[in-house]
Amino acid sequence: MSVSTNVVKSFKAGEIVMRQGDDGDCAYIIEKGRVEILLEQPGGSVQSFGTRGEGAIIGEMALVDGAPRTATVKAIEDCEFLAITSKDFEKRLESADPIVRMTAHVILTRYRDTLMRAQITGENKAWTLSESIELSYSGTSSAVERIKLANELKAAFDNGDLHLNYQPIIDMSTGKTAGFEALMRWNHPEKGPISPAVFIPSAEETGLINVLSQWALRESCTALKRIENRSGQTGKLFMSVNFSGSDFGVEGFADSLYNVISETDIQAHQLHIEMTERVLMSHPEKTKKVLQMCTDAGMHISIDDFGTGYSSLSYLHHYPINTLKIDRSFVIDMVEDEGSKVLVKSIINLGKNMGMDIIAEGAETVEQVEALRSLGCDMIQGFYFAKPMAEKDAADFVSPGGAGAQTALA
Ligand code: C2E
Ligand code: CA
Ligand code: CA
Repeated sequence: MSVSTNVVKSFKAGEIVMRQGDDGDCAYIIEKGRVEILLEQPGGSVQSFGTRGEGAIIGEMALVDGAPRTATVKAIEDCEFLAITSKDFEKRLESADPIVRMTAHVILTRYRDTLMRAQITGENKAWTLSESIELSYSGTSSAVERIKLANELKAAFDNGDLHLNYQPIIDMSTGKTAGFEALMRWNHPEKGPISPAVFIPSAEETGLINVLSQWALRESCTALKRIENRSGQTGKLFMSVNFSGSDFGVEGFADSLYNVISETDIQAHQLHIEMTERVLMSHPEKTKKVLQMCTDAGMHISIDDFGTGYSSLSYLHHYPINTLKIDRSFVIDMVEDEGSKVLVKSIINLGKNMGMDIIAEGAETVEQVEALRSLGCDMIQGFYFAKPMAEKDAADFVSPGGAGAQTALA
C-alpha cells in the first residue's frame, strides 16, 4: 500500500499504540506486525477483544469524529503503521468523486450510529465503555457536523419542512413589481432558521441539490400561478428560480422545465433560470446546449451574482442570456466608492448593449436606489423595496392597492 503523504510509525513489541480514553486524531493501517485490542471495563478489569494483523485498520473512529479512543491497542510484535490523520482523510474525501464521498459519509455515519446504540443499550457487552467516555461524545468534529447537517436536511426535505420565500423585483421604469426570486428556507426545530448559504452547499456536496432544485422549481411555479389568481393578473409576473451547476448535467433537465411550465400552466417567459457565472464557465459546452433549449422554448436566463466570478463580459455573447444580476457587494460600495460606481455603470452599459436586462441586487437605501436608477438599471431587488416573504404576503404585495402594485420610487 503506498500513500506517499502519510507518515509511517514504528512501535516495539509491548508498546502501547493508543490508549482508551485518550484523544485520537488519526487511524493506522498495519503494514507490519500484530496488535492486541484491549477494553477497559467500568470496574477496572481489562478484556482482550482480539488481535489485528497486516492490512487491518485501527483507531478508525478518529476519522469520523474527535471522540476519545474506544479501546487500548498494544503492539504484540514489532509493528509498522501508516498513519492517516483526520485532516488528511477529510481532504481526500472532499476531493473524491461525489458518489464515493456520499457513500463514505453514509457508511461512516451508520457505523457511528451502530456503535453509539451498542454502547447505550449494552447490546454487545464488549463495547460497554466508562461513563466519562460516553459523555464526551457530545464534542464532534466539523466533518461529523457536516454529515449531520446533510442528514438533517434530507430528513427535513422528506418531512416537508423546507419552504420557499419570494422576494419582489421592482421594474424601475414603472415602479411595479416585475417578478419574484424564489429563495429556500429551512426552519430547524432546535437550531432555528438555517441560512441557505449554509445548507445549499451541503445539499450540493451530497447531491441532494438536484431533488431540491426540482422541488423549488415546481413549488415556485405553482405559487406563481396562485399569486396571479389571487392578485388578478395573468402572464405578467416572472418567477426566478436558482439552479446549481450539477442541475444542468442531470439527464432530461430541460424536459423537466418544460413539464413544470406546462403542468403549472404558466407561460415559458415567466420562468427565469438563475445561475452563476461560475456554473457557466465550469461546464461551458453542456450548459450552453441546455440553455439554448431553454431559451428556444421561451424561458429566460439570468446570470446571478454577476461580477464576483470571472468578471469578464467577453464570454457572455456566446450564451443566450437575458438578464445580468449585479451582485450586492457592488451595490453596497457604489454610493461611497467611485470605482464601484464606475464598475456598475460599465456592467449596465455593456449588458444593455448586448440586449440584456439588468437587475441590481441588495439595494437597501434610497441613495443606492437613486444611484442605480440614474445609471439606467432596469430592475432592483433589495430590502429597500421588500424582503423575501411568504407566498400569501407576496400575493398581497402585488394585488391592487398592495405595496408592490405601485412602489414609490426615489
Ligand atoms: P442569491 O441567489 O444571491 O439570493 C439573494 C440573497 O440576497 C438572498 O439571501 C436575499 O435574501 C438577499 N438579499 C436580497 N436583497 C437584500 C438586501 O437588500 N440586503 C441584504 N443584506 N440581503 C439581501 P438568502 O435568501 O439568504 O439566500 C442566500 C443564497 O442562498 C442565495 O443567494 C442563493 O445563492 C442560495 N439560495 C437560496 N435559495 C436557493 C435555492 O432555492 N436554490 C439554490 N441553488 N440556491 C439558493
Ligand atoms: Ca439568486
Ligand atoms: Ca445573487
